[in-house]
Amino acid sequence: MNDLQKRTWAEVSLGAIENNYKAIRKRLPEGCKFLGIVKADAYGHGACEVAKRLEQCGADYLAIACLDEAIELRRSGVKMPVLILGHTPPEYVSELLRYDLTQTVSCEAKATEFSEAAGRLGGTLKIHIKLDTGMSRLGFLCDGGYFDEGVKNVVRTCNMPNLDVEGIYTHFAVSDYDDAESIAYTKRQFKLFCDVISAAEAQGVHFKIRHCANSGAVVNHPEMMLDMVRPGLLLYGYGDGGKLGLRPAMRLVSTVSTIKYYEPGTCVSYGRHFTAERRTRMGVVAAGYADGLPWSAAGKCSFYSEGSFVPQCGNICMDMCMVDLTEAPSVQVGSEVEIFGENASLTEFAEKAGTIPYELLCAVSKRVPRIYLNV
Ligand SMILES: *Cc1c(COP(=O)(O)O)cnc(C)c1O
Repeated sequence: MNDLQKRTWAEVSLGAIENNYKAIRKRLPEGCKFLGIVKADAYGHGACEVAKRLEQCGADYLAIACLDEAIELRRSGVKMPVLILGHTPPEYVSELLRYDLTQTVSCEAKATEFSEAAGRLGGTLKIHIKLDTGMSRLGFLCDGGYFDEGVKNVVRTCNMPNLDVEGIYTHFAVSDYDDAESIAYTKRQFKLFCDVISAAEAQGVHFKIRHCANSGAVVNHPEMMLDMVRPGLLLYGYGDGGKLGLRPAMRLVSTVSTIKYYEPGTCVSYGRHFTAERRTRMGVVAAGYADGLPWSAAGKCSFYSEGSFVPQCGNICMDMCMVDLTEAPSVQVGSEVEIFGENASLTEFAEKAGTIPYELLCAVSKRVPRIYLNV
């Protein structure tokens, strides 16, 4: 046993990530680029390790949320193009240039600031323009009455000095839902995206990389792949990954540290929300909310150990939680407990906790060592 594998750890299968990359790649039209989303430490999997594997596999682009995440990749030796999806204050344009990063620009005012800052530094900043087609978050407004103004602002941005406008993109709000209303909403977002591009290109500008397909669109709307796709969750084996033969890349594992028998009527954990109804063989698992287990899942989820599912009982504590082992006699002190992975479904766990798989992956905390596997 590895020293790190004593309490709670996360096994990250780089082989699964490679498998998932190749399975998604196979679905892309000829010439379509692959951008791997590695923000938030690659959804908890470890950004540098995932990025290096994607680089070896031949992915075209990476994206992260902010400058610090991009610098971390560069310092670890990642050479691929890297797109920053969020805002970077213009006083950091020198870092963008020094590390050869591509910056998202989400309105004309910011484009002006970037252009001026790059000019002062004597450099050219590579940018992708982001359009707000219905997510109502970041991006140039272009819907309805804003269309003409939006196109004008995009064209003006393209013509600013010291900016190299390499791409244009938008983000979908409901591409992962397959009900009729969501499908119509995504199609409307896509049409608006294409319409703005056509109107801008009619005014003499050109975008080398047009992209909008997140994981949901890669699965449900393959006609929207355009010049590049931008999957995150799929790469890690979740979302509708099962449909494409993708494999979950992370397995969160803990161990049983203590087992005791309690008489009926015994209350377990903070708040006394669980009371034993029978003589109960109760195990203490060495993982709690400080490791990333959601407090809201208390008493609703079960984990996998020694061939069976064991129900979690009582409040989840900071560093541990309890499981009922009465019907799992083969589980002993030291037994491994899979919190999620091949056997215990992360998607079901998230539903029971009232959250989404994304949040649980990102929540696996810093104190949980990642063990990288090639298989
Ligand atoms: C996070 C993010 C993605 C990836 O989303 P998934 O649902 O994980 O595929 C794609 N594009 C943008 C702009 C994002 O912020």
